[in-house]
Amino acid sequence: MPDDFPELPGFPPGEVWLAGAGPGDPRLLTLLALHAVASADDIVHDALVDRRVLKLARRDAELVAVGKRGGRPSPHQRDINEVLIERARKGRRVLRLKGGDPFVFGRGWDEARALAAAGIRFRVIPGVTAGLAAAALAGIPATTRETNHAVVLAAGHRAEDGQSAGDWVALARLGQPIILYMPMLQLADVVVSLRQGGLAADTPAAFIQSASGESERVIDSSLGALLGDAERHKVRSPAIVVIGAIAGLRHELLPALVGWQ
Ligand code: SAH
Repeated sequence: MPDDFPELPGFPPGEVWLAGAGPGDPRLLTLLALHAVASADDIVHDALVDRRVLKLARRDAELVAVGKRGGRPSPHQRDINEVLIERARKGRRVLRLKGGDPFVFGRGWDEARALAAAGIRFRVIPGVTAGLAAAALAGIPATTRETNHAVVLAAGHRAEDGQSAGDWVALARLGQPIILYMPMLQLADVVVSLRQGGLAADTPAAFIQSASGESERVIDSSLGALLGDAERHKVRSPAIVVIGAIAGLRHELLPALVGWQ
């Protein structure tokens, strides 16, 4: 490393580091996240964190899974906050590791707030968010000068953030592409509302499942065909849906776009 390369911070006992692990492939960890995984005493992680990332932990690190697994409901946020606070108070170096970026649809704010209220020192380490990584890996640019000057990151899971159908109509009217996280639960309703907001049935769209993972799949579709394609191709979580002109641009790149795996 060059002399002026910034030093990686020490991980003091009793601190919590709230870090994003990126979309899956360990090569998409930031240097800080890699350093955190390799230093932590406890790694409290979501189901979305790739097992290849967890393998980078110290052999004596304690791995605590707090995500949804095998259809069981996820633990209450309060309980996760408690786990972090209790372990930090015991003097453990606690890494709270989330998929993607910790502050994008990841309830990172809830945890940061609880830590702040409890007087626990913490650090936030950003990660490569799945929506942007999924698009990029599929050859879909988030913006181009020709197509859009804004892009919407939205969660399709209504319970998560209290969206109403009207919000989707308004988003459609913006005329900007939408990158949809957690798309599967409300896909039918979202499609109807976006159509009501004026998006044509032939608006390009694409599913990207398990971006950067070993089973990554990209399925080209259109707004009108999304539901049928989800069923026909058995699209499963985790998946991102990109809706808008940018989703159609990948075809021009495909002849020369080198695969990721
Ligand atoms: N904090 C995360 C998002 C958590 S919400 C981030 O910044 O990426 C969980 C949703 O993220 C999933 O339902 C899915 O929509 C998306 N997601 C996470 N990892 C993914 C992956 N590897 N491929 C496609 N979508 C992914």
